[in-house]
Amino acid sequence: MKFQDLQQINARYADELKKVASEVIDSGWYLQGKRVAAFENQLSDYLGCRYTVSVGNGLDALRLIFKAYIVRGLMQPGDEIIVPANTFIATILAITDNGLKPVFVDPDIQTFNLDIEKVEMKITERTRAIVVVHLYGRCCWNEELKHLAEKYRLRVIEDNAQAIGAVSRVEGFNGTYKTGALGDAAAISFYPAKNLGALGDAGAITTNDTELADVIRALANYGSIEKYINVYQGLNSRMDELQAAFLSVKLKYLDKENRARRQVAIWYDKYLNHQDIIKPSIESPEGHVWHQYVIRTVRREELRSYLEKQGIPTMIHYPIPPHKQFCYHQYNDLDLPVSVLLSREVLSLPVSPVITESDVIEISSCIADF
Ligand SMILES: *Cc1c(COP(=O)(O)O)cnc(C)c1O
Repeated sequence: MKFQDLQQINARYADELKKVASEVIDSGWYLQGKRVAAFENQLSDYLGCRYTVSVGNGLDALRLIFKAYIVRGLMQPGDEIIVPANTFIATILAITDNGLKPVFVDPDIQTFNLDIEKVEMKITERTRAIVVVHLYGRCCWNEELKHLAEKYRLRVIEDNAQAIGAVSRVEGFNGTYKTGALGDAAAISFYPAKNLGALGDAGAITTNDTELADVIRALANYGSIEKYINVYQGLNSRMDELQAAFLSVKLKYLDKENRARRQVAIWYDKYLNHQDIIKPSIESPEGHVWHQYVIRTVRREELRSYLEKQGIPTMIHYPIPPHKQFCYHQYNDLDLPVSVLLSREVLSLPVSPVITESDVIEISSCIADF
């Protein structure tokens, strides 16, 4: 058993993927062409947002959102950005790369997502945005968050790297319900292991904000709108035609794949039982696309090596919270007990569209003997 068998996942679409790859090869056009434009339109339609700007990867998508707000004068270096403390490091890197200051908020221990109740006390004169990370595929959005953003005139930026296809129960700022279209701007990653995975690196920004989309498009292309005329000091971060072609194929199957992941979570919920294990809750089926199935146990290391010996792979998302990393030594002493506890107790079990009911039964009965 593999934790996530990308070979098997993509083999199911191999004929279509090979066909579009040879079309791209034969076309002689590899960047900024019609396949990228087509994929951007398909993704905007899928999410219900006005613009998709494709870029090189998910970290760049996040970096470019902040950079665009800075270029437009809406944020300044030193401004504060509220962010969940247990996120993947890329969320924080995008903030600090732009000279902005991450303000870490401990997550809710049940959902693993930003604890919205703890946000208001972190808001200061310099706060400009709240980043919500739909961690492990679970949508993070509610009325209270919308209310706070409106009350303090904060932007809400979604890190939608793990939750493409998830649906909120509360509508977003523009009357939409899908993650990636709820806030002011969102970043997506198409890293191969994500729910919508490319066959290489790729990412995108989704938004309804015309000016933001235009600025990001220029910033990602050397800061130039018209060739050789540079309005901004930009960078080069573009999705290539090959990845766009692959993603157009795979986008058609995304809902089906997410349903398969949800089914795996339901099987775990049914078969997995152990007194030392806390399972994730499944309250709103549509609101979770199960990028990861994450359990908690105080016996994490012991369970992990036990499962490894039985041939069952697991992973830890994430073993060290960003504020405890070497590269953020200035934040090492912050008091974020929930994030630290989670980093010691979380364990991700295999979940993917190719995990079967008998895989889950096998894993569960193995754990029952632990
Ligand atoms: C994967 C991921 C990213 C970064 O995406 P890349 O395409 O790998 O750069 C950012 N945030 C979260 C939460 C992620 O899971």
